[in-house]
Amino acid sequence: NKRILLKDYVVGPPKEADMVASTETVRLEVPVGSKAVLLKNLYLSCDPYMRNRMNRPLEGQEESYFTPFKPGSVITGLGVAKVVDSGHPDFKVGDYVWGSTGWEEFTLISNPETLFKIKYTNVPLSYYTGLLGMPGMTAYAGFYEICSPKKGEYVYISAASGAVGQIVGQYAKLLGCYVVGSAGSNEKVNLLKTKFGFDDAFNYKEEHDLAATLKRHFPEGIDIYFENVGGAMLDAVLLNMRNHGRIAVCGLISQYNLEKPEGVHNLFCLVTKRIRMQGFIVIDFYHKYNEFVETTRQYIKEGKITYVEDVVEGLESAPAALVGLFTGRNVGKQVVVVARE
Ligand code: NDP
Repeated sequence: NKRILLKDYVVGPPKEADMVASTETVRLEVPVGSKAVLLKNLYLSCDPYMRNRMNRPLEGQEESYFTPFKPGSVITGLGVAKVVDSGHPDFKVGDYVWGSTGWEEFTLISNPETLFKIKYTNVPLSYYTGLLGMPGMTAYAGFYEICSPKKGEYVYISAASGAVGQIVGQYAKLLGCYVVGSAGSNEKVNLLKTKFGFDDAFNYKEEHDLAATLKRHFPEGIDIYFENVGGAMLDAVLLNMRNHGRIAVCGLISQYNLEKPEGVHNLFCLVTKRIRMQGFIVIDFYHKYNEFVETTRQYIKEGKITYVEDVVEGLESAPAALVGLFTGRNVGKQVVVVARE
């Protein structure tokens, strides 16, 4: 069983060398009488929150949402897998599932109730790491539940070409909003405009004055900001929000590698402009998973939503793929193929 272990807690930007490949010779099997399932991992998901799990635990924080990985242990993350052995009545050999699994070829899951059974297999199975999985659910809950969007509103999305951002933008367009996204390369900006149907997009790395850039794109101000990055971008957005605007704080990736997060300077705009700024975590919305899948599957079928993935081959490619999220190397949802069947 080939696997990827975390070497040690990470300080600063993650490096490939923070993770190491190893082979375990123990034969995994479902213990007699248990309700465990044995998974053959097919597609692994690289997600920014995994970096937070590489931090040394702060005292009293061991049980937080970001339960730290243990040095020397296999990295865990989300993935798509096939059930190859099962002691659980709800899971049969051959079923496809997605959920928390290990960065390894095979994983024994003792509490399979946490896994989602995959109902529709007539889409690429890797979509369950993205469009039909956790990032999609994040976009769905974050946009429809947290942003309180209305037709015709002005929507701005940062890290817009990524796993979550590209979906938020397409939902917003389907509702009839005016949508602008930012991303870190001209290739990504091009995708936003041509593939995902954003009204406009810009490369934030080429802009010296983000507040002025946003003013140019939103002369009348922003109603909804879908926040993925934080830092200087958030400050520039606050200056450009409209009265009664909403900010859904999905993530702050620009801060994850900093030992001391940057301050936000323009928070008084929340008061003067009566802005609602709300953080959220996708796991609180999984009761809406079926509704989300049905809606989004229909959009896929009708050709109203499309998805771009950045697929790399082989478990050994996983560390570099994860590291790449923090330099913007990924174009679209970062997926690692362990096996296709
Ligand atoms: P992406 O697929 O968008 O990958 C990360 C992207 O972030 C990179 O490609 C890069 O794009 C951008 N980025 C990296 N470093 C920086 C930086 N310093 N400043 C600005 N942009 C940066 O990731 P996801 O779509 O999976 O995640 C997007 C956000 O959503 C993250 O903050 C993540 O933590 C959050 N999230 C939150 C969830 C929740 O439940 N609240 C659930 C899932 C995700 P570029 O080239 O454009 O810079």
